[in-house]
Amino acid sequence: MSTTADVIVIGGGVHGASIAFHLARRGTKVIVMERAFVGAGATGRSSGLVRMHYDTEADARLAWESFRYFQNWNEMVGGTCGFTRTGFIQLVKTQHVETLKRNTAMHQRIGIPTFLIGQDDLKRLVPHMAVDDVEVAAYEPESGYAMPSDAANALMNAAREKGTRLVQNCSVTGVLLAGGKIAGVQTTQGEFSAPFVVNAAGAWADRINRMVGLDLPYGTWKHDVMMMWRPKEAGVSHPAVIDFPNLMYFRPEGGLTLVGLEDANPQNEDPDGDADHVSEGFVERAVDRICRRMPIMEKGGLHSTHSGYDGITPDQHAIIGTAGPEGFYLDCGHSGTGFKIAPATGLCMSELILDGAARTVDISVFSPKRFAEGKLIKGNYENIWQ
Ligand SMILES: Cc1cc2nc3c(=O)[nH]c(=O)nc-3n(C[C@H](O)[C@H](O)[C@H](O)COP(=O)(O)OP(=O)(O)OC[C@H]3O[C@@H](n4cnc5c(N)ncnc54)[C@H](O)[C@@H]3O)c2cc1C
Repeated sequence: MSTTADVIVIGGGVHGASIAFHLARRGTKVIVMERAFVGAGATGRSSGLVRMHYDTEADARLAWESFRYFQNWNEMVGGTCGFTRTGFIQLVKTQHVETLKRNTAMHQRIGIPTFLIGQDDLKRLVPHMAVDDVEVAAYEPESGYAMPSDAANALMNAAREKGTRLVQNCSVTGVLLAGGKIAGVQTTQGEFSAPFVVNAAGAWADRINRMVGLDLPYGTWKHDVMMMWRPKEAGVSHPAVIDFPNLMYFRPEGGLTLVGLEDANPQNEDPDGDADHVSEGFVERAVDRICRRMPIMEKGGLHSTHSGYDGITPDQHAIIGTAGPEGFYLDCGHSGTGFKIAPATGLCMSELILDGAARTVDISVFSPKRFAEGKLIKGNYENIWQ
């Protein structure tokens, strides 16, 4: 087995898999180092929402470019990503209605199928949803959710078919330099060499950055998720919903409804911490909020809970670009929203590495240099917490 490649990708999550897929399609020799197994990090625990409603244009464009992969997965990647079209609804408080309208107009300009709907439409779409507090919402009829582990495995399998080597149960313990440039990695399975290394290590990415002397502001974000049985009176399905007024999102999965909360997600814990148990009080808060929005869920029951860690940055936007020694690339810090943009982000990363610049989407705003330059990314929604 070769230990020499053109590009070494650290991390077998959906981003590492997507980068490998796009590089391998162009004939690049890639080795992916994964300390556990494909999808062992945030990807395998992700809620998998696939929607385009973002409040920055670069994110919306990445999500929209990625969407064609989710819709045509078998043709574009092969295998399955489990995409289920449910429609997506963005709910906001009254003070955010103007921003919602501006965002939706921006999305329409990009070409995203989305429009504004009022209370009557909301009641028709989700008869069991309490919407008295909602004046207007954004609706994406084509959106839904996918299965992140399936998506990552399908991308990785397709990359492997094109020659990528996946090394699992292999931790990167050091990054090798020669003449100040990237030369490879030191791992628990020996040395591997390549002139380019990509840090796609999710919640663990800061450790990799430090191996090359990079001190970027980078933390971890722990996120709890609850699955509830839906009572049969609630119907066979419902759209995926982000509910800013209740700081919550929810989506169906068969006869279950998955619920996550936007607030009280612990930051800067050790990413090797307990991702199998949710924080104390989470279930009570999540049940209370889903029953507030969907009162019929009072007749439902708790199915299960789980948790996961992602990397987070000070502006809660990804780090995508170059920094540190020549040959070092970053695709990390996805701050809890990175699954749905992975197909296009991997494509942009392959363009950046092979062509010197991303062509599919302008990803320059995500540059790691923005922290030192004081150019933090600012979304249109201000303070959804109040
Ligand atoms: C509970 C939860 C729900 C989420 N819900 C959504 C959602 O609905 N929609 C959405 O778009 N996003 C969501 N996200 C965010 C999304 O899942 C992540 O942004 C995305 O999966 C990140 O992918 P990644 O490949 O960057 O990182 P990861 O999937 O974390 O992969 C990083 C990999 O690197 C490996 N690794 C770490 N250190 C080393 C090392 N030293 N050597 C070798 N390998 C190493 C890890 O084992 C891991 O497999 C959610 C996240 C969580 C935690």
